Amino acid sequence: MGSVSGNDSHGNHIVLFPFMSKGHTIPLLHLARLLLRRPAVDAVTVFTTPANRPFITSSLSGTATSVISIPFPHGIPEIDPSVESTDQLSSMSLFHAFASATTVMQSRFEAELEKLLPIRLLVSDGFLWWTLESANKLGILRMVFFGMSNYALAMCKAVAEVRSADKADDEPVTVPAFPWIKVKSNDIPQFPDPQSNPVAFNFNMNTLQATINSYGLLVNSFEELEPAFLEYWNSKSMPRAWCVGPLCMIDPPEPMTNPKKPTWAHWLDQKLDKGALVLYVAFGSQADISTRQLKQIAIGLEKSEAYFLWVIKKKDSELGDGFKERVKDRGLVVRDWVDQRSILMHPSVQGFLSHCGWNSVLESICAGVPILAWPMMAEQPLNAKMVEEELRIGLRVDGPPFKGEDGLVEWEEVERKVRELMEGEAGKIARRKVREASDAARRAMEEGGSSWRTLNSLIDETSK
Ligand code: UDP
Repeated sequence: MGSVSGNDSHGNHIVLFPFMSKGHTIPLLHLARLLLRRPAVDAVTVFTTPANRPFITSSLSGTATSVISIPFPHGIPEIDPSVESTDQLSSMSLFHAFASATTVMQSRFEAELEKLLPIRLLVSDGFLWWTLESANKLGILRMVFFGMSNYALAMCKAVAEVRSADKADDEPVTVPAFPWIKVKSNDIPQFPDPQSNPVAFNFNMNTLQATINSYGLLVNSFEELEPAFLEYWNSKSMPRAWCVGPLCMIDPPEPMTNPKKPTWAHWLDQKLDKGALVLYVAFGSQADISTRQLKQIAIGLEKSEAYFLWVIKKKDSELGDGFKERVKDRGLVVRDWVDQRSILMHPSVQGFLSHCGWNSVLESICAGVPILAWPMMAEQPLNAKMVEEELRIGLRVDGPPFKGEDGLVEWEEVERKVRELMEGEAGKIARRKVREASDAARRAMEEGGSSWRTLNSLIDETSK
């Protein structure tokens, strides 16, 4: 155990346990900062594993958060023992084996938790379903965090009620609870089959059960963004959802000063000096994009004549011969971890080609940057629908559902939509709408705003 900086008071103590993936961890680290600013909260402790600890301590540097590491189980078939985060998995098909192995951490978690009593609240990622049992044993209230929008939560619930076996996966069906929405079965995360994938099935069942039996659902969103969907969830489902976001608004990104300023930051500054508008292209920490698809994206970007900053997970050589040379005056390709929030907030960045992970959507909203949505997995197709149809803060790349090696989107579609977002009328409308959403997000997080009040109510209610 160790403190990011010292803190001995445990009177009104809140414990956070993020799941071991960047998209699930980052928002809870913002939550730690947010909680520490509330006078009613004395201490915040974050649980993690040894390999994830450096990311967490550096993200929380300068705060009075304590961090406790519990060894991550090793010996999971096909997973390298050094892997403690889903973004390092060689394939997302290993996700359920990885996530299910965390149950081994339970006894050690409980032993550490007991030393910290009294604890007001445990905010646990929903994937760590077994923490409900730990919380119950020690008389602690458990809040669940999934990092999903109310729209996605409501849609999964509403569609489950009307799903029919005789509809094809790509046949649009009207959702009775929201008659203006048509959704395809393959827009919704599928519940695994118990026979063919018992590990995934059991994991999903356990996660669902533990969620229903928890005190509440902490949602990284704000009421004004999606009121109908929040209301639907709270009237039709359990547990109650509490919107306390967007959490990424709690602090601006660290200012980048020379000599630590990365190449991409200099590059964006130069583009700003030239008055060039830049498209930021990134598909999150997990998406596995085939080399064939990467090449089509590369050609589309090249033909669009847009300025672009592209973050990739694969090698540059996969983008096609001579690509980097041909676009060198207007395109930069980066392979490192970047500070995405800083990029989106850079004034030269005026568009985001995104996989629509919920954090990316929120970060784009907060920065007032319109989105070109290209969903890849999980609930991302729902987020993309929300971006395009509900919020109208972006456009969408049309094509077959993303399926790794299958489902190729051709470069012509990439070129057309990039041009439309960066230069077209639809892009202008999306830009105006996203700026309105950005203002609303800021107001929600300010003192007296909806998310600020909701967090206060949660703290009050759980102290009784
Ligand atoms: N992120 C980042 N730098 C990177 C890649 C990702 O800061 O190089 C952050 C991004 O800002 C977001 C999170 O990682 O906060 C990714 O979450 P999201 O829900 O968008 O997608 P996921 O990675 O979970 O698919």
